[in-house]
Amino acid sequence: MSTPPHHPLPPFGSVVSCHICGAIPAVHTVVRGHQGLVVTLRFLTEEGAFCRTCGTATYRRMTSDTLWQGWWGLLSVFAAPVTMLMNIGARSRIRSLPHPVGNLRPQLAPGRRVLARPPALAIMTVLVLALGSLVVPGLIPDTRPTFTAGDCVRNNAEWPEQDLEEVGCSSPEAEFWISAGDKCWGQDWLLYLDYSAENKPLCAHPMSK
Ligand SMILES: [Zn+2]
Repeated sequence: MSTPPHHPLPPFGSVVSCHICGAIPAVHTVVRGHQGLVVTLRFLTEEGAFCRTCGTATYRRMTSDTLWQGWWGLLSVFAAPVTMLMNIGARSRIRSLPHPVGNLRPQLAPGRRVLARPPALAIMTVLVLALGSLVVPGLIPDTRPTFTAGDCVRNNAEWPEQDLEEVGCSSPEAEFWISAGDKCWGQDWLLYLDYSAENKPLCAHPMSK
């Protein structure tokens, strides 16, 4: 039998073995989970001595479960992240252990990292979509029409608001004709600059009635 690799002394001064598989070294810790159930909530704990393998498996399972079971109540929105924060200590204690040896019973399978499991992937997908819905409209080019001198428009808003739409100059809907900005006078309205196809000031001049 090979000698176990060097490992830090357990905190109790005696060798503790994993309560799941019996391997050493192990560390005594509490792994937490949370379930929010709309009207009730459950705080889950698994306490005991964990070897690195079984502890990692327990941490990953409870954290991942919290990620999809933890949010379904008003208080749980706060309890779930606090639970996961509290697990950071347990996780680092478990991860600081060397590889376990001498297990008497089967060890738990650590499985995939929390971030590679469906609950975390689903949450990240939702976050990406939410972020995308904020960012993408800013990337879509402005669909505001542009005009040049001589065009005729109507305003679908109340001046000084401008929601201009091009209409045929002979159409009864035509309210204003567009002229260059340096010819603005009287009751003309200066157009928002982004209505200008050439980025020059334009005026809306009332059609003669
Ligand atoms: Zn174990």
